[in-house]
Amino acid sequence: MDVRRSLPAVDTLLAHPQVQEARKRYGHRLVRRAVRQTLDAIRRDLVPPASSAAVGVDDLARRVLECLAELARPASRAVFNLTGTVIHTNLGRAPLAEAAVAAMTEAARHPVALEYDLDSGSRGDRDRLVEGLLCELTGAEAATVVNNNAGAVLLALGALAAGREALISRGELIEIGGAFRMPDIMAAAGCRLREVGTTNRTHAHDFEAAIGEHTGLIVKAHTSNYAITGFTRCVPETRLAEIAHAHGLPFLIDMGSGALADFATLDLPHEPQPGDAIGAGADVVTFSGDKLLGGPQAGILVGRRDLIERIRRHPLKRALRLDKLTLAALEATLRLYRDSDVPQHDIPTLALLTRTEDDIAATGERLLPRVGELLASFEVTLAPCASQLGSGSLPVDRLPSRALVWRSRAEKRRQREREIHRLEVALRRLPRPVIGRIKDGALLLDLRCLEGALAEAAFIDQLAQLPRLYDATDDHGEGPP
Ligand SMILES: *Cc1c(COP(=O)(O)O)cnc(C)c1O
Repeated sequence: MDVRRSLPAVDTLLAHPQVQEARKRYGHRLVRRAVRQTLDAIRRDLVPPASSAAVGVDDLARRVLECLAELARPASRAVFNLTGTVIHTNLGRAPLAEAAVAAMTEAARHPVALEYDLDSGSRGDRDRLVEGLLCELTGAEAATVVNNNAGAVLLALGALAAGREALISRGELIEIGGAFRMPDIMAAAGCRLREVGTTNRTHAHDFEAAIGEHTGLIVKAHTSNYAITGFTRCVPETRLAEIAHAHGLPFLIDMGSGALADFATLDLPHEPQPGDAIGAGADVVTFSGDKLLGGPQAGILVGRRDLIERIRRHPLKRALRLDKLTLAALEATLRLYRDSDVPQHDIPTLALLTRTEDDIAATGERLLPRVGELLASFEVTLAPCASQLGSGSLPVDRLPSRALVWRSRAEKRRQREREIHRLEVALRRLPRPVIGRIKDGALLLDLRCLEGALAEAAFIDQLAQLPRLYDATDDHGEGPP
């Protein structure tokens, strides 16, 4: 019998009690779509029924409900970042402070005085919402903000050195993930890249010798995702500033991460702050809002007033400007740096980075009994591991942490690999996907970023679904969504 001919009509399935019930939650429009999609899928034989007898109306109704859950699930979904990389670009970098979330919601819901001066009732400038805070926190004269740091660098280069040469040490021709490559950015900004020195050693006299009538700018880029060690030399920022200023050139530093807290007092690896770069004589400093700063995605430019003005007048500034939501979140985050007694508690990125090993271990001890017996094919242990900061912040430093380590009990290596792969897929199929990492044939869930009672409870709550998802996933990682 061809089941496709015996399928019920759309209206018959819509009248099924469970489908009717689902209408209350999802609405008629989405339910109808799910019914159509379910029937179409069976007709196209994409979902072959186990046996023709199995395609009863009840069975179809169950498939419609599954389809509905899938259709209603947003693509932009919260996940558990247990990768061990705290600032994970692919997982959206910094989680925002509660104050920033609240400010964003308020700005989303209402009109706000974005480019409107409430004192005079005349037109204002959106930069003013954060400029004062940025100047206070970095010691700079002026500040402006754009969509991300790559945009900030592009804009600064375009405004300060288009049609001229930009000098940069050969050891700093950085590539940050996602096609941000310094030579390409310089070309896009219309400047000519002039490499100075060698990969491992660049001296002050190399810069002096490279300066000529076409030079427009000296650039220093933070080598934020690699380290050159061994027989090395670079020119200190203060010296570069002297050289630039002696020739009437501006000096730009791309810091990448913009730590606004003193990492030494937080017991974290040393990280220079934008204020240090300004103090060293940089004329313009650029950094990200969503790396070590722990705010929303943004590119921040601070520095000399005349140069920031020039940057502001460049047409790219308008193209790269921030929206009211990001500005609200950024302002709230910066206020915490200025006003909070303990920014490292209020700013989640700092809280995660400063979390003690003991605290992480305690989370592990609570979770271990809940996960240990979940899947018979795996042995789960709690073991030391090392988190990294991520997103081109402090590339060589590691933070001691604890991970739940899942090992397959299978005898054969191939079988163990398949099971670990299935487990990794099943964890990603949980309602709030759990993202871990595979290392040395085991699956690691670094618990540094599973912080707070709420997160822990949410993690535990959905674990009961793991065995079903694991069983439904085959060795190729295929299975129901
Ligand atoms: C991360 C980084 C960038 C790019 O910043 P985005 O905020 O990702 O656009 C540029 N330069 C350096 C040195 C960086 O570390």
